[in-house]
Amino acid sequence: MNKRWTISEINDFVEKNSESRLLSTEYHGYSQKLLFKCSCGNNFEKTFTKFKNKNQRKCDVCEPPRPSR
Ligand SMILES: [Zn+2]
Repeated sequence: MNKRWTISEINDFVEKNSESRLLSTEYHGYSQKLLFKCSCGNNFEKTFTKFKNKNQRKCDVCEPPRPSR
């Protein structure tokens, strides 16, 4: 269940499952923030866990974080 992702697998996942692109070239673990480029041109940082499991696959401009209330 706790699959170990490599940077090329992540790159693949990002390409197939989002309109963003992966800019980071190294992956050291699930808590590391990766650098992405959104389809709008903005760069944004997110952990792969959030990107994949919480569907946060765009920058905060295209996909503003939900206000918690
Ligand atoms: Zn964007």
